[in-house]
Amino acid sequence: MRLSSFVASPLSCLFISAFVFSPCASAQDRTTEQGEAQISDPNIECTPYQYPPVGNAKNNFPLSWTAATILSGDSDAQAKYQSIESLIPNIPPKGTQPQSLVGNWGNITYDPSDPDCWWTFEKCTTPKVPGIPDDIAGLPEPNTLGYGFDDGPNCSHNAFYDFLQSRDQTATMFYIGSNVMDWPLEAQRGLADGHEICVHTWSHRYMTSLTNDEAFSELWYSGWLSISRIIKLVVGVTPTCWRPPFGDVDDRIRAIANALGLTTIMWQYDSNDWRVGSGNITEADIDANYMDLIAAAQNGTFGASGTMMLTHELNNFTMSEAVKFYDQLASAFSYLVPVGVAFNVSNPYVEDGYTLPSFAEYIDGTHTGSVTGSGDGNTIGGSSDSSGTGGNIPSGNSTITSKSGAAIVSHSHVGSFASAAILITGIQFML
Ligand SMILES: [Zn+2]
Repeated sequence: MRLSSFVASPLSCLFISAFVFSPCASAQDRTTEQGEAQISDPNIECTPYQYPPVGNAKNNFPLSWTAATILSGDSDAQAKYQSIESLIPNIPPKGTQPQSLVGNWGNITYDPSDPDCWWTFEKCTTPKVPGIPDDIAGLPEPNTLGYGFDDGPNCSHNAFYDFLQSRDQTATMFYIGSNVMDWPLEAQRGLADGHEICVHTWSHRYMTSLTNDEAFSELWYSGWLSISRIIKLVVGVTPTCWRPPFGDVDDRIRAIANALGLTTIMWQYDSNDWRVGSGNITEADIDANYMDLIAAAQNGTFGASGTMMLTHELNNFTMSEAVKFYDQLASAFSYLVPVGVAFNVSNPYVEDGYTLPSFAEYIDGTHTGSVTGSGDGNTIGGSSDSSGTGGNIPSGNSTITSKSGAAIVSHSHVGSFASAAILITGIQFML
């Protein structure tokens, strides 16, 4: 079932609201998280709006969907970068930009012994450089699925988030900084609904292709500790976890993330939901991937420890698949929990006043954490000064296509369902 079938049509809203006050009429409030969450028409959800706290601060950030670099005059970023520079191992960026930014590694040569623990090469998750923590890919709790979604906030996610609410289900949401900038009220809903918020970089590039400065900036401008960082600015919290786009991480990138207090979270199963529409990947393939995980759970594969599968809130299809298989996953696994819950991360953010339930509390029925602090950012439900002088939120339309066509990253905020589309057709290794 497609999520679009969950919602009232725009025509019915127009017809009703022309005569009587209706929920559709109130759904036009686009200044608060609560108002935005009421909108049920994906076309309206995905129409850009002004949010002055972001509009007023946009000069403090890279442009949406551009690879981040330290902005000139940003003394906070420069000071932080200089303070961690000595911790970054001397590993060169992979490949050659701009092709490498989109995962076309071209004629790269790489030592088959995998000295950098490059996940993209052989799915290494145990760093070889001393002092860097292992990635998290599985869970310590048996028969448990770390439930999470990448690439949000999607502008049309209300039906999906409503569904999760209806099942009293929370998840780990890996938000892209540029999406948070473009859709701030949708990002606020993630926290308001009790989901765990992690960083998924500023512009969703292949991180190992970036210079040290660029990789630092992709994390810094997404969520690191400062009022001017986008997740902090919009949502009011500073995450302590991140997931590399495409899983593309090595010990150099891990060291930068670790120096910024970010735990690297990977996965063990890939739904490949993000691939539909590219090559010959079809809905049936994704269904089969979900069913493979469900079958593994049913036959006791996770009796000793739990696991994670890569899934997305990227577009209507990926969210619809999550809905379609939710009941079967919930039946096959004993528990579906946010990643931080499985690790008993009681304080998921740098700021005080926000907690996640422990695993024991979660399975006992407490599925959302507590919010007692207000932070010093723009917190949930905070007023939005619609009379302010904020500029337009960047519409963010952009397309990046590698010359060879080996990998394509495209983002479009126009369209009824998908705020972002990321299509990867392959990674080339010529060793
Ligand atoms: Zn992603």
